[in-house]
Amino acid sequence: MIPRAGNLGKDTMKEEQKISRRKFVSTTTGTLATIPLITILGERRAFGEDAAAMAKLDESNPTAVALGYKHDADDVDVDRFAKRATEEGKKQFCDNCLHYKPSEEEGWGPCAIFPGFVVAAKGWCNVWVKAEAT
Ligand code: SF4
Repeated sequence: MIPRAGNLGKDTMKEEQKISRRKFVSTTTGTLATIPLITILGERRAFGEDAAAMAKLDESNPTAVALGYKHDADDVDVDRFAKRATEEGKKQFCDNCLHYKPSEEEGWGPCAIFPGFVVAAKGWCNVWVKAEAT
């Protein structure tokens, strides 16, 4: 069947929409599948190591800088990370973050976001997520 001139544009648009939808679904699925894997690998590495042997995260570490990490949460640049200045934000510290694991070294513990390092219990970064109640 030869498409009429009026239908040609509609058919082409429908086909493009199908391709776009397919591409969106495959891209989104791949991205979403990767995030938990990174998190799991990060947590295994961070929590599997001996915290006492880990270096303290340097605030000048490029990832730490990008995420606004500070050993003392009061030092966070609230111009860049305004959520830390809110009433809720002021209650956020590494030691009540989901990614933090207490260790024998008082005041410091491994963090899944910074594998191989310990972070300060009273620190903060922009990835803070409320720890589940235990
Ligand atoms: S992810 Fe949580 S524990 Fe790790 S540095 Fe950020 S606030 Fe602290």
